[in-house]
Amino acid sequence: MYRTNTCGELSLKNVGETVVLSGWVQKSRDLGGMTFVDLRDRYGITQLAFNLETQAELCLRARKLGREYVLQATGIVKERESKNLQIATGEIEIIVEAFSILNEAKVPPFTIEDQTDGGEDLRMKYRYLDIRRNPVRNNLLLRHQVAKQTRTYLDNQNFVEVETPVLIKSTPEGARDFVVPSRMNQGQFYALPQSPQTFKQLLMVGGIDRYYQIVKCFRDEDLRADRQPEFTQIDCEMSFVEQEDVLNMFEGLVKHLFATVKNLDIPQVPRMNYADAMKFYGSDKPDTRFEMKFVELKSSENDLVSGKGFKVFDEAELVVGICASNAAVFTRKQLDELTDFVKRPQIGASGLVYARVNEDGTIKSSVDKFFDEAALSNWANAFSAKPGDLLLILAGPADKTRKALNELRLEMGSRLGLRDASVYSCLWVTDFPLLEFNEEEGRYFAMHHPFTAPKPEDINLLTEGRLGEIRANAYDLVINGVEVGGGSVRIFNKQLQAKMFEVLGFTPEEAQAQFGFLMNAFEYGAPPHAGIAFGFDRLCSLFGGDSSIRDYIAFPKNNSGRDVMIDAPSMIDVKQLTELGILVKSV
Ligand code: ASP
Repeated sequence: MYRTNTCGELSLKNVGETVVLSGWVQKSRDLGGMTFVDLRDRYGITQLAFNLETQAELCLRARKLGREYVLQATGIVKERESKNLQIATGEIEIIVEAFSILNEAKVPPFTIEDQTDGGEDLRMKYRYLDIRRNPVRNNLLLRHQVAKQTRTYLDNQNFVEVETPVLIKSTPEGARDFVVPSRMNQGQFYALPQSPQTFKQLLMVGGIDRYYQIVKCFRDEDLRADRQPEFTQIDCEMSFVEQEDVLNMFEGLVKHLFATVKNLDIPQVPRMNYADAMKFYGSDKPDTRFEMKFVELKSSENDLVSGKGFKVFDEAELVVGICASNAAVFTRKQLDELTDFVKRPQIGASGLVYARVNEDGTIKSSVDKFFDEAALSNWANAFSAKPGDLLLILAGPADKTRKALNELRLEMGSRLGLRDASVYSCLWVTDFPLLEFNEEEGRYFAMHHPFTAPKPEDINLLTEGRLGEIRANAYDLVINGVEVGGGSVRIFNKQLQAKMFEVLGFTPEEAQAQFGFLMNAFEYGAPPHAGIAFGFDRLCSLFGGDSSIRDYIAFPKNNSGRDVMIDAPSMIDVKQLTELGILVKSV
């Protein structure tokens, strides 16, 4: 038997017992006549004690142990003299009677501690050592809990987990596909699924009225901290439901996960339509941990600023700002930093106007030359500003200015400490536009995907060709400004689906060739259906209070899409290429 107990469970209750432990050497200390070795496994650390006087040979051997050696030790549990109440086993130690080295270890390239000295690259190259560290291991345990609780909830609601294929057909809509060459059908390729979207819809046609799958998806996109080329979704679909049913069912899932994984009771999730999200937050995924809503000083509906000789405002399509409570204390230097922030090319504002509401109610602005006290006090009223508040205002083309102000709002939220990772604010964003015009391509694209149904009351806009105005029964779940899930009510009628492809620029032949399998299935009694998918890695990182998903994935890829541990992607040899028909032998 390798062990009778783990390194995390022995306590004063076990004093006097003979136990066998196995684990890794965390560290050892020689203190005169005693040698102590901290033995670590997944469950914790237990102190092994060796006495030079009474067990000279054993103690001398113990002194030679290196970090990360794998040991098996047998001994008696004893109450410790100097206790460490920081750890669960800190009141006891093991007086070792015998031990054997199960395996030696090279000196690890970084310390296996919570705060390691290893940089990201090194940690990824030796990920198996990184996983020995508490923070990474705890993230994997959290991930396991989220998966387990997801299955518990959905199983209780009669959902069936069905696996869908990984080798599928490449389709032009959406992100770029990863493709796999077919040896048996030379010159042809499979694609890896960006999501099981069409399969889950076909399962609905197949009568599996509640489906889910915790599933790998693949998208060949540029990477960021919250994106990986392969990632995991909680993918779900239901039949005979409307949007309301889906929102309620999955609000239930989210509540269940918060309750069981985080021990948090979250209130009913508020809803906001897309138009309001854009108007008040300049974003379809607003961080609602704090208010700081946009206030428009000049728009198509009102104008509090034109005609005072300030050209920037006079010429702007939109003048919009935020009111940061108690931020009038910001120094000139801080305000200059904010101005530089909004002028960065990624944000693209041309400048920042600010106004401080002083404690005596007077207002001091960066545009005092143009606006007198009365004008500024009108602004303050529009913002419902109080003494001590700071107004930050941007002007320019409407969409661009809203986007820039969204960034500034988030920056202010961070600076004012309003984005605490342990506080959670959930939101449903609904009524997304069905279509989005792409200037570069000169055509409309589906905002969610081509299978999303228009709102019944907007279907006439489709026939009238007012494409940009059509709203969809599409929804996102946003937590703390992160899009955690998204879905829609689906089209289940062949003619409407064909019309949708036509609008997206497909000829009927192209639509048939790409998606004929789905449209044909709709002719055999497709039920009304709707669904949603959650980004599982993101959900886990949110629960863990991190913005990067990388440490919630056991073996992630780096920013260039590489796995530096196994060194993938890699070249394949000529024989393999030839077999696949990718390299044609010259004769
Ligand atoms: N398949 C969609 C996605 O991956 C989610 C859905 O509509 O259910 O975004």
